[in-house]
Amino acid sequence: MTKSQQAIDLENKHGAHNYHPLPVVLAKGEGVFLWDVEGKRYYDFLSAYSAVNQGHSHPRILETLKNQAATLTLTSRAFHNDVLGPFEKYITEYFGFDKVLPMNTGAEAVETALKIARKWAYEKNNVLENSGKIIVAEQNFHGRTTTVISFSSDETARKNFGPFTPGFVKIPYNDVDALEKVLEGEDNIVGFLIEPIQGEAGVYTPASDYLKKCKDLCEKHKVLFMADEIQTGIARTGSLLAVCGNCTCQGHCEKQETYVQPDILILGKALSGGFYPVSAVLANDDIMSVITPGTHGSTFGGNPLGAAIALTALEVVRDEKLAQNARKLGNIFRERMQKFVDKSDLVKLVRGKGLLNAIMINDSEDSSTAWDICIALRDNGLLAKPTHGNIIRFAPPLVMTEEQLHDCCDIIEKTITEFKK
Ligand SMILES: *Cc1c(COP(=O)(O)O)cnc(C)c1O
Repeated sequence: MTKSQQAIDLENKHGAHNYHPLPVVLAKGEGVFLWDVEGKRYYDFLSAYSAVNQGHSHPRILETLKNQAATLTLTSRAFHNDVLGPFEKYITEYFGFDKVLPMNTGAEAVETALKIARKWAYEKNNVLENSGKIIVAEQNFHGRTTTVISFSSDETARKNFGPFTPGFVKIPYNDVDALEKVLEGEDNIVGFLIEPIQGEAGVYTPASDYLKKCKDLCEKHKVLFMADEIQTGIARTGSLLAVCGNCTCQGHCEKQETYVQPDILILGKALSGGFYPVSAVLANDDIMSVITPGTHGSTFGGNPLGAAIALTALEVVRDEKLAQNARKLGNIFRERMQKFVDKSDLVKLVRGKGLLNAIMINDSEDSSTAWDICIALRDNGLLAKPTHGNIIRFAPPLVMTEEQLHDCCDIIEKTITEFKK
């Protein structure tokens, strides 16, 4: 039996089957590359769902991890630590907010944002206690906790996990009128939670003025605009945040015309460059001040190891100009793929922003074609995964070079051209 098969069998035997991984067993990563247990090298075109924007085992982040792990890892928030303050100063200035609340996973950060929004509405906006509703978009992905799946459209994610948390109103994505209708027609709306680009749903990019119009409506109705940038943020879409629109600055800048300032910004994934679970919720004082001692917390949230790693991970994004690189390579990628789509029967379209892209396979949503193409891509040295049936997401680490990207496009085009159903 191969080493790979042994590892797969072990997982199948002893692990819960809550994922359906592509059959490849990885043992090493460096930059844009991954190696399996047999030593075969692959281009990573998923980046752990955009958690590894800075590339695998980035040497600078690794150095920080080693030093901090050897010094102090966890104190709990019962005491102060000497890394949290510098990290909080750095991240709030970086993204242009007064305050940050550090957590660990993305779903926890989303939960935190929902809690803050409701508490703010009751204490600062005269909404009747425990009645606050939050508007979300259909086909959203915000994580896996009971509250978060309460407003999911994914039946597999919900089935037999109820009863669910009430207080959510679902509207179609990319539909300003639907938002306006709910804001005008329903009482006790406290917030609007949105992914600037829907990643898990298949990289749906909304109209270019969608976020701005939503933000204006939220402001008009005194409702908090909450951006879940766990996947789209931290340079992935060619700007620091997807809500930055077309600005290529490497940090927050207030003069940019396209910027849509969220009332609450939710980050995770690449915040740690893939080294450690670090998530964060950012807001200004008028909102974050509703959080007082005892109202929210996490044993690991804000721990010195995570804080040190996240600070360096953000420095890397700025110093290596990853947003600019994502934008440049993204344009090259979509241009090449569009030419390929135009002459391919198997691929229907390419869409995305920066280096968050997807192609749609010309087949029904429940066909296995996209999966089979991903197996063929694997055999040709590139790892990607279907999301929602016939859509394949392409999201390499942002440290990729132009030459490597062309190499990857060659692999994708060759694989699909030679693919037989
Ligand atoms: C991945 C993701 C989450 C959940 O993050 P976890 O760390 O897996 O809990 C939430 N929202 C978006 C947009 C995501 O992509």
